[in-house]
Amino acid sequence: MKKEELNFEHNPFVQAFCKRAPELEIYFHLFNSKYFRVKLEQYRVYICSKPKFFAHGSAGYCSTDEKRIFIRNGLSKNATLQTLVHEMAHSKLYWIRKTPHGKMFIVELSRLRKLGAPLSLSELDQVKVEPFRLNVRNLRKVIFHALIIESIPRKFVPKYLELEFFLPYSEIKKITDIGKIISAVLGGDAPLLPHHHN
Ligand SMILES: [Zn+2]
Repeated sequence: MKKEELNFEHNPFVQAFCKRAPELEIYFHLFNSKYFRVKLEQYRVYICSKPKFFAHGSAGYCSTDEKRIFIRNGLSKNATLQTLVHEMAHSKLYWIRKTPHGKMFIVELSRLRKLGAPLSLSELDQVKVEPFRLNVRNLRKVIFHALIIESIPRKFVPKYLELEFFLPYSEIKKITDIGKIISAVLGGDAPLLPHHHN
């Protein structure tokens, strides 16, 4: 079964093999306050006894359309909570469809790591990447990445920038006219070229 078929509402197999896990929903709530400033919508959390529901090697799945998180059974408590945090990060970055474990995700893991959230060792490995320094040139790169590489809708650009630079959008906006950069990127200008009033 492919991951995208891991749909609770319309799939009787998922209903038969995935059981709601209220104790993990309590953890969801706890982690939401501790690591996400209660910004995430509450998801239902399920434990599934069919490993086939998951992509190879993956321990969980976040269904952002259904607001449900599925986790494999048989994991240790630590691995279960690490998986929960991983899937919660996906729920935060719900607009990223094309490269769910791309740069943005790694930036988010790095943020979570700083807060001491449970993360697996393989994930801790990935998060050596430091976030970009905020300047016009980097803003152009990040906006290009968001709009062209991730194809995220324009309305999510502020959120995307906040994540990338760990700053509120109001601060980021102070350094340049972001609307102009967006138009340049969408208009196919050369957005990655260094900019002289940098
Ligand atoms: Zn993932």
